[in-house]
Amino acid sequence: MVDGLLIDFKSDKHPHRFPKASAWQLLGYLLLDTADRYRIDTVGFYLSRSAVLATSPVEEYLDLLGTCRRDLPTLRSVFAELLAGCRADAEPYTPEDEDRVRRLLQKLAPVIEAGHCPTCAQPLPESTRRPRKFCTARCRSRDQAMRRRGLLPGGPIPALPRPRKLSAWSPARAGRL
Ligand SMILES: [Zn+2]
Repeated sequence: MVDGLLIDFKSDKHPHRFPKASAWQLLGYLLLDTADRYRIDTVGFYLSRSAVLATSPVEEYLDLLGTCRRDLPTLRSVFAELLAGCRADAEPYTPEDEDRVRRLLQKLAPVIEAGHCPTCAQPLPESTRRPRKFCTARCRSRDQAMRRRGLLPGGPIPALPRPRKLSAWSPARAGRL
């Protein structure tokens, strides 16, 4: 942390193949400041092998990750609720855990106001012809997939990520053997 800047240091050998998991990891750090104690307004990565600092305002970072329709305090409170009572390295895949996660995802279901794109919640651009339903062709095609996965209202219950396969050397498996 430097003032309101949250930096994650990465020493990946291939920065051009930046893993999506690293982007989510940084989001996790941002959300863990539930009380907004550090007043984080910018997040970024320092790529130590290439000496590159890439930063982004928090709002833009949330937009980039597709969270544009939820504000930071809401995301943080649901994240805190999700993690409450969790042990580190716990595998949250009992039926009770799944129900709890489903309820939280339902709570996060976006509210799309009139005149906004139902996929990304951005205001619809002005149109001289008939009113547009989606802002872009990409949002039109994403709509169906997101609805199927329960990420938009009107679809089935929210989908849950499948449990990860443990690799032979993972600490979780080592602890169990
Ligand atoms: Zn859109």
